[in-house]
Amino acid sequence: MSEVLVLVDHVDGEVKKPTYELLTIARRLGEPSAVFIGPAGSAAGVAEKVKAYGAEKVYAVDDAEIKNYLVAPKAEALQQLVEKASPAAVLIPSTAEGKEIAGRLAIKIGSGLITDAVDVAEGGITTQSVFAGNYTVAARVTTGTPIITVKPNSATPEEAAGAGAVEEFAATVSDSAKKAQIVASQPRQATGRPELTEAAIVVSGGRGTGGDFSEVEAFADSLGAAVGASRAAVDSGWVPHSYQIGQTGKTVSPQLYVASGISGAIQHRAGMQTSKTIVAINKDEEAPIFELVDFGVVGDLHTVLPAATEQVTQR
Ligand code: FAD
Repeated sequence: MSEVLVLVDHVDGEVKKPTYELLTIARRLGEPSAVFIGPAGSAAGVAEKVKAYGAEKVYAVDDAEIKNYLVAPKAEALQQLVEKASPAAVLIPSTAEGKEIAGRLAIKIGSGLITDAVDVAEGGITTQSVFAGNYTVAARVTTGTPIITVKPNSATPEEAAGAGAVEEFAATVSDSAKKAQIVASQPRQATGRPELTEAAIVVSGGRGTGGDFSEVEAFADSLGAAVGASRAAVDSGWVPHSYQIGQTGKTVSPQLYVASGISGAIQHRAGMQTSKTIVAINKDEEAPIFELVDFGVVGDLHTVLPAATEQVTQR
């Protein structure tokens, strides 16, 4: 069976959930091999984790030299691995960095690229949601090794025993890949909540909150959810831009999305329409958000959210 390379999404060796989702999807296409570009000392720990999701091999690429630069060296390392392993496909998380690596890799190896897939079926047929979620497209790469980026929460991680054999891979980084150096990086401020684009549950607030996000946050925390927002809430300065969901914000695809005090403008929908279950709380029963919800509550969020938080907390 052909190998399928999966780029491990991690922070300093801490493997993130989208990696397990990609490994689960990779098993539909072939034999998953994880590609870990990170500190050499972390490879064994990473292998322990990813083999539980079917990774037969773990290519360990020491990032001692790579980590000081933006994405170009990572794309080069992947190119060299593709040339060595001749995989059936390469799966990469649909993060900003992942998509840039994927684009560069596709150019380097002359392959077709599909970004932001929400599913990949046997035979490499992908599903994408386009035009603000108004169309669903089935597509497949017809040239070269398929490079596919997959959105977080596109699959439920399923465990499967793999060998997890670590294979050191010494990538050569060219001078031309070292043109953009990282001079400083600041870790995300710890909120204790999951990362917005990876969270299984997202609770969002809009202009209807009136600027007080405490009820949105309390409900999110009762569910272990991330907190998101509409642009109106962000532009009003109530929450940081990193919370914004939509056309000019982040795209989320959680299992459950709760929109409170959000009207459902097309630009907001563009960032959340692929959520599996959508719930809206809005005091206007004519609000457009109700056109796409699975469950809707017509009511004042200042009443509904505290009541819902209490119910969840009591369980
Ligand atoms: P509103 O549209 O004002 O809706 C507020 C809602 O809250 C109303 O439906 C109201 O009935 C309800 N409400 C009020 N009080 C309560 C209460 N007490 N309880 C319950 N419900 C209540 N928007 C984004 O979100 N993300 C984007 O990325 C984005 N990008 C954009 C890009 C461009 C180029 C443009 C032109 C616009 C963009 N917008 C974006 C803005 C978008 O068009 C809307 O203006 C915005 O989404 C509205 O935010 P909102 O739903 O919070 O506010």
